[in-house]
Amino acid sequence: MGLFSREKPKFKVQTTKKDGFSGWLKCTSCNELIHANELDQNCSCCPKCNYHYRLPLNERILSIADPSTFTEKFTDLYPIDVLHFVDTESYAERLKNAKEKSGRDEAVAVGICEIAKRKIALGILDFSFMGGSMGAVVGERLTSLIEYALQHKLPLVIFSTSGGARMQESILSLMQMAKTSAALSRLQQAHLPYISVLTNPTTGGVTASFASLGDIIIAEPGALICFAGPRVIEQTIGHKLPPGAQKSEFLLEHGMVDAIVNRHELRQKLIELLEFLG
Ligand SMILES: [Zn+2]
Repeated sequence: MGLFSREKPKFKVQTTKKDGFSGWLKCTSCNELIHANELDQNCSCCPKCNYHYRLPLNERILSIADPSTFTEKFTDLYPIDVLHFVDTESYAERLKNAKEKSGRDEAVAVGICEIAKRKIALGILDFSFMGGSMGAVVGERLTSLIEYALQHKLPLVIFSTSGGARMQESILSLMQMAKTSAALSRLQQAHLPYISVLTNPTTGGVTASFASLGDIIIAEPGALICFAGPRVIEQTIGHKLPPGAQKSEFLLEHGMVDAIVNRHELRQKLIELLEFLG
């Protein structure tokens, strides 16, 4: 058994558990009652309306990679509070809390895995760690991954979900936009494919750098994908945005993404695209 297990609970609806949680949830999108087990069995998508709930990082790896093939890399880089930044809480404290809450040490995991026996470089952002924000270490891990892909001639796949650059690291976080973009241009010069997958939500400096630079850009259905959020834009320009603006479907229509792919079909789609591009 590898780092992550493919075993999932058998579908069985329990009406009451010891802790009082019945397992029934109201879908935030369609308001229908759905059961937690149904969500588990359905890749965290609503069985009634197909709303794509956030998928934890380890489940994302399970859903994409061949079993037990993912090896995480560059874990010797971890975030520190060089600026001694304090807003309502110190950055050091935020990092500590994020680690406890997410069980991870940064907002990204990068590594090597196989998908249908093809070796790829895989990066996955983790929204549960400080909103998937990009600080120096997120940028450096991704850049190291891109350089590794370059060195070993591997295709690259990155799953994004992010609130943008990490403001607690100020200019150091913004620099990651240029660094990741520069590394990707070297990948492009070497004719190695990069597939970017945008999941809900992908915003700010992540959208404005590596997430939008894929040779092929795939989005999950209904994902919010933007630079500035709708509220900020509306306050700035004094207009209401059209309905659905900044959602995957709108961006597909306007040429910003190449395809919208259901989570259930993502692995197969990646296999086909990697085959085609390889
Ligand atoms: Zn629903």
